[in-house]
Amino acid sequence: MSETTPTISSVGVIGAGQMGNGIAHVAAASGLAVTMIDVKAEALEKALSTIRKNMERQVSKGTLSAEDRDAALGRLSTGTDMAALSGADIVIEAATEREEIKKSIFAALCPHLKPSAILATNTSSIPITRLAASTDRAPRFIGMHFMNPVPVMKLVEVIRGIATDEPTYQATVALAERMGKTIATSEDFPGFIVNRILMPMINEAVYTLHEGVGDVASIDLGMKLGTNQPMGPLELADFIGLDTCLAIMQVLHEGMGDSKYRPCPLLVKHVEAGWLGRKTGRGFYDYSGEKPRPTR
Ligand code: NAD
Repeated sequence: MSETTPTISSVGVIGAGQMGNGIAHVAAASGLAVTMIDVKAEALEKALSTIRKNMERQVSKGTLSAEDRDAALGRLSTGTDMAALSGADIVIEAATEREEIKKSIFAALCPHLKPSAILATNTSSIPITRLAASTDRAPRFIGMHFMNPVPVMKLVEVIRGIATDEPTYQATVALAERMGKTIATSEDFPGFIVNRILMPMINEAVYTLHEGVGDVASIDLGMKLGTNQPMGPLELADFIGLDTCLAIMQVLHEGMGDSKYRPCPLLVKHVEAGWLGRKTGRGFYDYSGEKPRPTR
């Protein structure tokens, strides 16, 4: 591969969950051709309806014209077969945060990709270098960590694995900028920058609840009004997904070998119960009524 920065005009997105649909939305609205893949056809249906709804909101706020919305939706296709990504300049993997799932996706995907294609992962916590080593393209493998919700949040953390080459890094930065994002560059260490700092705070909020220091409402109000954060840590945990929060704490705990990162048993219990936050209708809040209701 030459040392010139590859140009990206077509993007594949794998995983149509809350991150995948946001990435596909912003990429399509930025003029890129987007193909979104999921194992579940119903996840694709749900993602498309979320994208339409979110674009509708942008149209009513005047941040997107109806014409640009229609053009963006016209650039977006979906499917369950990875062969549809054979023409992609970059594939951004945003599937479930489990290493074996991501590795099996890469194994199935790489034979379809053109040799020059960049492979990016939106992982919150799995080492980029280790994922890269399981593929046929470690120099063209990179971390592209979007924040949730993708259409709203300005940051993309770009994480270079030890083998990532400079043209791949430059092309990824250029793509994120084209998508209207600002970049923070992180080295490949557990949790990167944002989650290394954010997740221990969320985990500590769960310990504070677990030990009865405060109830859900007091913990969230305390942090919102006391430290000027737009969301309380438990509300934010529900928003991110408690399974994702737990997975990140486990990676920090194992990766650093330091007991200060041990996941709170109450967080583990919520995940075991399937109370994963907003996406399942219950986490530290119950979302079945008009307004979220604290569960403790
Ligand atoms: P999610 O559970 O909402 O969506 C995951 C999607 O992946 C599901 O639709 C699932 O059907 C699909 N999937 C699972 N196995 C697949 C396979 N083999 N092939 C194709 N699709 C498959 O999860 P999410 O919150 O969107 O997280 C996705 C990724 O983004 C994770 O790596 C997570 O760590 C990362 N991330 C999440 C957040 C957040 O706030 N939720 C923020 C930044 C990054």
